[in-house]
Amino acid sequence: MPGFRSVRLRLTLWYVLLLAAILAAFSGGIYLALRQQLYVSLDTSLRSRATTVLEVIEYENGRPTLSGTISAFDPNVGEHFVRLFDTTGAVTFDDSTAMGDIPIDPRAVQAALAGRPTTRSVSAGGETLRTRTVPIQRNSRVFGVLEVGLRDEVPGTLRSLLVIFAVAGPVTLLLASLGGIFLAERALAPIDKVTRVARRISAEDLSQRLDLRLPDDEVGRLARTFDEMIARLDDAFRRQRQFTADASHELRTPLTAIKGQVEVALARPRRLDAYREVLRNVNEEVDRLIRLVGSLLTLARADAGQIPIASEPVNLAGLVAAGVEQVRPAGEGRRVELIVAPGPPVTLRADEDLLLHLLLNLLDNALKHTEAGGRVVAGWGLDDGCAELWVRDTGAGIAAEHLGRIFDRFYRADKARSRAEGGAGLGLSICRWIAEAHGGSIAVASAPGRGSTFTVRLPLPH
Ligand code: ADP
Repeated sequence: MPGFRSVRLRLTLWYVLLLAAILAAFSGGIYLALRQQLYVSLDTSLRSRATTVLEVIEYENGRPTLSGTISAFDPNVGEHFVRLFDTTGAVTFDDSTAMGDIPIDPRAVQAALAGRPTTRSVSAGGETLRTRTVPIQRNSRVFGVLEVGLRDEVPGTLRSLLVIFAVAGPVTLLLASLGGIFLAERALAPIDKVTRVARRISAEDLSQRLDLRLPDDEVGRLARTFDEMIARLDDAFRRQRQFTADASHELRTPLTAIKGQVEVALARPRRLDAYREVLRNVNEEVDRLIRLVGSLLTLARADAGQIPIASEPVNLAGLVAAGVEQVRPAGEGRRVELIVAPGPPVTLRADEDLLLHLLLNLLDNALKHTEAGGRVVAGWGLDDGCAELWVRDTGAGIAAEHLGRIFDRFYRADKARSRAEGGAGLGLSICRWIAEAHGGSIAVASAPGRGSTFTVRLPLPH
């Protein structure tokens, strides 16, 4: 039983309440208008009857009278009456007895004698009559009073109308409620469906979709929006799981290496320099672990939005010179030529430490993937309102199938080689985050054997 917490029931209730109010107002209006109209028409008949009778009044010793009844010119005996009074207020003619004992209202007679006609409703013998009392005048002299009366059908008609309202109102409301429930049911049924299916989709099983073939209306849009949201959640959860699995895997590799080395060293007594050798290797693995954990931490804090991005003036010429100087020893060690390509003066607002980190990552990668005798060039420039920072190498290049993925976390184009170089595939994802955190982007152009160019575009203040 859905009870009052069901929109369906509440909608129907509101609908019925509104309809009841409208019906009541409508019926009231009809009742009043009809009553007014009926009395107007009754009073018109009464007035014309008074005029007719006035014309056939005779006088006996100056007192008004009628010869017999006036049924001669009106066949509806019992539906109306005529009464005449002389100037003293005494009755001189009365055929009302056929309709029962109709009381005389002396005030109406007095008013008519004073020249003021009156119309009123009178009850007699359980019936209602409408009477009109008018002065009988000749040459502006009052000779007496004429009272005509008609059976008043209006209350009866109005009563019948009330009976109709009393029956038709509830029946209409009942039908409207049924119709309302039916309509609400129809309109809300898809929502119930959405709820039922949505309940089945838990965080554990985000692969399910509502996939309801609903029209493009409010509910259809809700269902589709829900599906899109689930798809995004699914994607986020999947990436999270992947990230955790990849991170654990990357952490395990150096740890396994350390454990292996230590176990071998402990297997039997050794000379001092053998221990030294083991410790050097362990130290290298620990360095790799520290770098890896550092990168993981950077990405985790970046995801959580916890890394503040400074906004300070950064001169690109200075930045590139500083970056290249830092990697010069590594370049010399690998016998790779390191060149700074001069560019126009460009200063932008950015986080200098993060930009340097990005540049060092790119230079480091370029050196790692370039054979001895090769060349790495770093430069900057302006293009279409953006500052550009680029690093080009004459190294191995990247195959087309990897190009789209090298900015993904833990993605390495050449796994064996990259790991041997100490990379975990996180460097470029950090570069991409830094570029995007500055409102910019990073892109690569490369072909195997022809070297690679990484270009970072950063928006300039307008
Ligand atoms: P890693 O730490 O393994 O270098 P990165 O995220 O920095 O990870 O790079 C991802 C992959 O992209 C690398 O494993 C490598 O295969 C490829 N790559 C990056 N820079 C270059 C480059 N300059 N030349 C060729 N391959 C590159």
